[in-house]
Amino acid sequence: MKKKIHPEYHPQAKISCACGNVFYVGSTKKEMAVEICYACHPFFTGNEKLIDTAGRVEKFKAKREKAAKASSKSKATKKAEKKGKKVAKAKK
Ligand SMILES: [Zn+2]
Repeated sequence: MKKKIHPEYHPQAKISCACGNVFYVGSTKKEMAVEICYACHPFFTGNEKLIDTAGRVEKFKAKREKAAKASSKSKATKKAEKKGKKVAKAKK
């Protein structure tokens, strides 16, 4: 290794997450603060945790509901879904 050109390496750099999780990795930085990690990211937890921007999630859900309605055959289910939609709209 050439001297004086490599950054200092910390084999046990402390990474602290916003969720409170702390773990250690090798890094050129001694400490890092991250906002999401393997312990709290929805991909790993399997939980639905949404950060909604401009109601895009709601739009998507409405779309899915519509698709489900179109594919369902029973009239009773359709009526129930329509009623549910009206209630949801009234809340806004
Ligand atoms: Zn985390």
